Amino acid sequence: MKKFVVIGSGTSGLIAAGMIKRYWGDEVQVSLYYDASKKNIAVGESTTPVVHLFLNAMGISTHDMIRDLSTTVKLGINFKNWIPDTEYFHGFQEVNFWGEADNSSAVYSIPNDSYDGGLLFNKATTTLPQEGFDYSHALHIDTQEFSNYITKKLEKEIEFVDDVAERINIKDNQIESIDFRSSGNVAADFYIDCSGFNSLLINKLDTEWNDITDELPIDRAIPQQIPHEFDEIPSYTLAEATDNGWIWQIPIGNRYGTGYLYSSRFTSDEEAREKYNSWLLEKFGVGLETDRIIKYKPGYYQDAWVGNCLAVGLSSGFVEPLESTGIHIIVKQVYDFISLNSNLRFLEYNRKKFNEINLRGYKAIIDFICLHYNTNRVDSEFWKYMTENKTEWVRDFDEKCRYEFVDASNLGNNSTRFVWPLDSYIQVANGLNMFDKEAIIEFLDSKRNKNQILEFAKEHHEYTVLKKNENKHIPHKQIIASIHK
Ligand SMILES: Cc1cc2nc3c(=O)[nH]c(=O)nc-3n(C[C@H](O)[C@H](O)[C@H](O)COP(=O)(O)OP(=O)(O)OC[C@H]3O[C@@H](n4cnc5c(N)ncnc54)[C@H](O)[C@@H]3O)c2cc1C
Repeated sequence: MKKFVVIGSGTSGLIAAGMIKRYWGDEVQVSLYYDASKKNIAVGESTTPVVHLFLNAMGISTHDMIRDLSTTVKLGINFKNWIPDTEYFHGFQEVNFWGEADNSSAVYSIPNDSYDGGLLFNKATTTLPQEGFDYSHALHIDTQEFSNYITKKLEKEIEFVDDVAERINIKDNQIESIDFRSSGNVAADFYIDCSGFNSLLINKLDTEWNDITDELPIDRAIPQQIPHEFDEIPSYTLAEATDNGWIWQIPIGNRYGTGYLYSSRFTSDEEAREKYNSWLLEKFGVGLETDRIIKYKPGYYQDAWVGNCLAVGLSSGFVEPLESTGIHIIVKQVYDFISLNSNLRFLEYNRKKFNEINLRGYKAIIDFICLHYNTNRVDSEFWKYMTENKTEWVRDFDEKCRYEFVDASNLGNNSTRFVWPLDSYIQVANGLNMFDKEAIIEFLDSKRNKNQILEFAKEHHEYTVLKKNENKHIPHKQIIASIHK
């Protein structure tokens, strides 16, 4: 039996402990230590469809999540005012999550003015497909409620210990043991660092920190929950750009989770609080009621798995939450760790492979988030900086969109579609007006197999439009109410 020690009972600690225990069962003993006086970060409410890898491992369905908690369903993200006075939708795609969307129909539909958004979900609505939950979807969750729910389910399988890790004993870049305030010295075969921004274990080991402040300078967030009685429940997260960052808005139970994100390079805390206060007053008629400001360093560790320690979630790094990738990264990290290490041998080969996949994942996420800032706005110091400091990949991708068209081979660090399919990139690029109809037509004219490309794309387009129309939607609120009943 291998012994695992997990530090932290936030979303990462619970997901890591749960997936490890449910996969290896009696082959492992999992002890989870947490510091009850150090609260979990208590944000992280918008997920991606990858959350189901964890929920499936726990035997929890979407139906359970709605019945037992204040969960709502998310079909995508609505981006408002990224180009002022416009909005666009990035929807999840239909079945065949990793494959089908490599062949986008947009090369036909954009020049024909019939582009219809993503493969299944094309616009921000307050409805859901009528049929069950067998389509690609994510969830909006109340983090605290979710943590309590998962903790309860794991109580009998995992040892939960409220104790503070005070000293990490390291030898030869491996953790020998940890000294806890009450439990004393504890040793394990493997350690999972889920200690949040503290990075308590990983920062004692030999791995470099990659700072990404120059690419994505947002480094502060002010979160606030707003009680709200929904007449209609949005089936999406709203990401609304401001003149110095953006605001998230997530519908959960009888409230919205909101948060104001900005960069300390360009905006003072006072200014951010004032702007957020005005936004809250205008939108919800309530003012800012919190003093809390979350401060973080955007970036990630080069190796998340070092020696006998794996850093998961915030302890391994953080990229701003524009595409809700926090929980996505956690689940993928634990899933990849388990898949590569199924026989519990912790091979050096598997460690390197894991780090390679994890690194590529972080880079792909950074590229895609940077793409959202390709607005060419110059209406504030923040936007001027974002426009003047585009990453090389964004500049190249922008050129390809403007003068030709894109396919799955243009996704840079995401070449293996680690995170999003081509369809996602097209939705964002189209939302930011990066395509030129005439250029696409000219580009197609240069192709010897133009007719074949167009025929295929047209068929694909017609098929997806048909599927979208076939799928009757009913109000989100009605579905939630019927499950609660
Ligand atoms: C502003 C913001 C918005 C976000 N929005 C989203 C989103 O919409 N979607 C999404 O997927 N993700 C989002 N995230 C990321 C998400 O919040 C995190 O990935 C997730 O909550 C996991 O956090 P964690 O468990 O790694 O850390 P935390 O929740 O910080 O937990 C750390 C744990 O470590 C324990 N601990 C610390 N030190 C010690 C010690 N010495 N001894 C014992 N225990 C210790 C603490 O007690 C705590 O239990 C957001 C993050 C931020 C900052």
